[in-house]
Amino acid sequence: MMSVHAPQPDDATTTGSCCRRCGTCCHKGGPALHLQDRSLLMSGKIPVKRLFTIRQGEPAYDNVRGVIIPAQTDILKIKGIAGDTGMCRFFDPVRCACRIYAFRPAQCRVLTCWNTAAIRGMYDRDRLTRGHLLDRPAGLRDLVDEHQAKCDYRQVAYLAQRIRKGPDRLAAVDSLMAVIRYDHSLRQVTVERTRLDAELLDFLFGRPISTMMQMFHLRLAKVDGVVTINEAV
Ligand code: SF4
Ligand code: SF4
Repeated sequence: MMSVHAPQPDDATTTGSCCRRCGTCCHKGGPALHLQDRSLLMSGKIPVKRLFTIRQGEPAYDNVRGVIIPAQTDILKIKGIAGDTGMCRFFDPVRCACRIYAFRPAQCRVLTCWNTAAIRGMYDRDRLTRGHLLDRPAGLRDLVDEHQAKCDYRQVAYLAQRIRKGPDRLAAVDSLMAVIRYDHSLRQVTVERTRLDAELLDFLFGRPISTMMQMFHLRLAKVDGVVTINEAV
């Protein structure tokens, strides 16, 4: 049982030299996917709706470097059991076992918590991206590209900085709210018009921007029925 997380040297699991199948790594989260995992998605062994996307430019924790940095490419990850964080959704806590062990992703095959050299070597290479999978479901590539352009995390970061520090804070709030509304409505319209399984949305468009404000030291607040954005305290 493995995980996306490259365990740190002080992990309790790093003693010994073989897998004790304790499940600690799977508890920490699901793996990110690489090109060699594409066939698992295309064959349906791992359903695409079980993934979420960290979009290019989105602030993401780099497990190897130990810092939060903008993602250089899409990072596709297996969802957690409760949404997009936490224990890998393919981990069976009762049996302390991987439900897809025979076709677990490459990171899970490579990770040995007592020696993280192999996972560090592959960690940011040959990432699988949405573009590698977007023939399934068909016809959605244009929507994804349009969303990526209009909801670019570089723009979100720029607006967040202006909200926190700029003299034109109110204009920046309006601009960021427009991005958040677009992100929200595109998800709704996509499900309504294409009858798409809503569980695919976090793969297609990443997690809703409205849920990511803490990454930018901001928070959404509703005052007298009006949603606005404030600096997080
Ligand atoms: S790789 Fe390490 S953390 Fe993961 S199940 Fe095996 S012993 Fe536990
Ligand atoms: S896919 Fe299986 S081995 Fe990999 S993190 Fe999830 S439960 Fe663990």
